[in-house]
Amino acid sequence: MTNRVLHGWSVDVEDWFHILDCPGAPSAADWEHLPARVALGTERMLSLLQAHGLHGTFFVLGWVAERHPELIARIAAAGHEIGSHGHTHQLVSQQGPDAFARDLDASLQALTRATGRDVHAFRAPGFSITPNQHWAFPILASRGITLDASLFLTARAHGGYPLDRQGPFELQLGDGRRIVEVPTVPRRLLGRELAFSGGGYLRLLPDRLLEQSFADAERRGCPAVAYLHPRELDPGQPRMNLPLARRFKYYVGLSSVERKIRMLFTTFRFGTLSQVAADRPLGQPLDVSELGRGREAGR
Ligand SMILES: [Zn+2]
Repeated sequence: MTNRVLHGWSVDVEDWFHILDCPGAPSAADWEHLPARVALGTERMLSLLQAHGLHGTFFVLGWVAERHPELIARIAAAGHEIGSHGHTHQLVSQQGPDAFARDLDASLQALTRATGRDVHAFRAPGFSITPNQHWAFPILASRGITLDASLFLTARAHGGYPLDRQGPFELQLGDGRRIVEVPTVPRRLLGRELAFSGGGYLRLLPDRLLEQSFADAERRGCPAVAYLHPRELDPGQPRMNLPLARRFKYYVGLSSVERKIRMLFTTFRFGTLSQVAADRPLGQPLDVSELGRGREAGR
């Protein structure tokens, strides 16, 4: 039993209107006036985890922590790992170093105030550390971040970092500092890369294919990283007037999520991303200067 792979369970704690880079979505100035529903889905997630005796990593938006500090304190008190998801849900690829650092600092301040603890984990909104944003890692390290989960190892809409890696590895920053990267890894199927472990992919995939994909990761000894959002446990959330393709991706399969979570929790082992990183030896370290050189760099 103990040699079975420990998969990662992660939740990006943001509200139903925190959609990225999309025409028709409310602007940041409007957020304040929209009905908050983040607590509802988060509480459902906490109940499911508690019912199965599991813990996960919650990457919390600083904007949410400022408005719902008691919710974030409850997540931490239940024994889950707290990470930053930035403050205002901006794509790193659109920020640049100064704006990124300011946004990160604001989020860390809000999270520390809510939980009374320092925060050591980070995930960029939309997995948006892409091959041109490796400047983000020294900034993260300088703020005490030791675990990053921003890399999605395939090409995708907002993020995507095509790198040939199987599970967590150490990023060496060249000045003695290190960050452990816990990437989200796709499945290779019929010559293609299939994202499966969270968001719209998890909602869209039939239960059997989802189960097979986690089992395939387990066979390869590569932890999968599940990633969900509170709104995915809130089928009653207001619907935004989004372009057709985004609308489909954002709302497909909402009613299947709770069933799929229960199936995964009873079939596989899950833990926080720090537990995943400590569960088995890390892959070959990668010098951050190698990043940006594409897939070959990870071999
Ligand atoms: Zn997000």
